[in-house]
Amino acid sequence: MNYIREIVSGKKKRMKDAGYNLDLSYICPRIIGMSFPAEGLEITFRNNIKDVVQFIKERHGNDFHIYNLSGRSYQKEKFNGQVSDFPWEDHHSPPINILFMMCKHIDDFLSNKLANVVFVHCLAGKGRTGTAICCYLIYSGRFQTAEDALTYYAKKRFQVGGGVTQPSQKRYVKYFEQIIKGPPITPVLKYITSLTLVGIPIFSKHSCRPYIEIYNVKENKLQLIYTDKKSHSEQKKFTDLGNKELNIIKLQILTPFVVIGDVLIRVIHNGKFKNIFMFRFAFNTAFIPEDNTLTFELKELDPDKVVKDQRFPDYFYCEVKFTDYCKCKNTTLFDNKCKDCLKFMPEVKNQWDTIHEIMDEYKQHSIHESKIILFGDPEFDDQNEVLYSIKNPQILPEDFQYQDDEDDFDCDDMEYENQLGKITEKHEKEDEDHHEQYNKQHRDTFFKHTM
Ligand SMILES: [Zn+2]
Repeated sequence: MNYIREIVSGKKKRMKDAGYNLDLSYICPRIIGMSFPAEGLEITFRNNIKDVVQFIKERHGNDFHIYNLSGRSYQKEKFNGQVSDFPWEDHHSPPINILFMMCKHIDDFLSNKLANVVFVHCLAGKGRTGTAICCYLIYSGRFQTAEDALTYYAKKRFQVGGGVTQPSQKRYVKYFEQIIKGPPITPVLKYITSLTLVGIPIFSKHSCRPYIEIYNVKENKLQLIYTDKKSHSEQKKFTDLGNKELNIIKLQILTPFVVIGDVLIRVIHNGKFKNIFMFRFAFNTAFIPEDNTLTFELKELDPDKVVKDQRFPDYFYCEVKFTDYCKCKNTTLFDNKCKDCLKFMPEVKNQWDTIHEIMDEYKQHSIHESKIILFGDPEFDDQNEVLYSIKNPQILPEDFQYQDDEDDFDCDDMEYENQLGKITEKHEKEDEDHHEQYNKQHRDTFFKHTM
């Protein structure tokens, strides 16, 4: 059985010590990332909740708290009820306030007692777990940039590559860094006017028929607010004209409507027999630049597999255009926002009031304090060493070289079963399966041709 678990945890670093074999990594001595503590059949490929309970009890007694991001529950009594839920959609970025609420909670808990440690998990203990932990590494004051935090996490949780790989999750760690550094910002109400795809992705014969879905990202759910989906024959078809200048898909949003806060956009090919998910991305309207344009290159689109998908031309990118709803900017605090715009955002205002309250109280730890809060003893601080070794790969030992993680087996992909998001069409699993399948087919054909 341990063999299966090892295959599933892939290149993640496992805890193999004193009879344990757990998909669990000490990112720092006081911050631990792990996969879902499972019961029943699931224990064949995830951590067995019994082993986790015993491990924690043996190593940390009662001085622990668990953060469950998976959206699934288990018997919290097994952990003396010391579990908090901060759920969000698998493979996605969260509503931004969740990251602040969780970091504040972690910080209070770790500050309370030196022996305290925190365990963070989602399902595979990879993307969402990493997003949360990286935000806390920044919040602690020890890590100055999202990039450093992401690099450090990848090295500590994985043997090779890996880490947080979904572009929108990484984008949100960067948002987090920006908010921590200040000055205070607020989300802005914008009209979305168009989506332009530069390059024709080939999802049908030399063409595609894309439609858009726009969602509000709310706590525990995604709310569809717009789609321009038509019947197959009515959906406009865009054909590859063999010319970069002409291969442009402009999807005008005919009745411009307002977006605010965390927004997810999905683009889907309207197929004759089956619709095929193309790509998605999430953003927060607090971060729309002054020119009212957001651009997403291939490597910035989700899922991360899109970048390797041969159906997209290398130069492909997606541009989203907005117009102002009112004169309020992202530097206009809520007290000064216009009445019209406040009317639209009671829920989003609540989320951001929470962020601003946390930030008003936030006092960054000194470097010395931050070393204690993450490592217990400043002596154990390996931040410089780890980041230096990554930036200077020539000094890395041979068994630690970054590799293409194409074969990384992530069981979140295998059994996507989130009950939270009620997105249409059983989405991600199929999306990702499709990318996987396509890439496999493509590889197979490629090998056939080259052999
Ligand atoms: Zn306004």
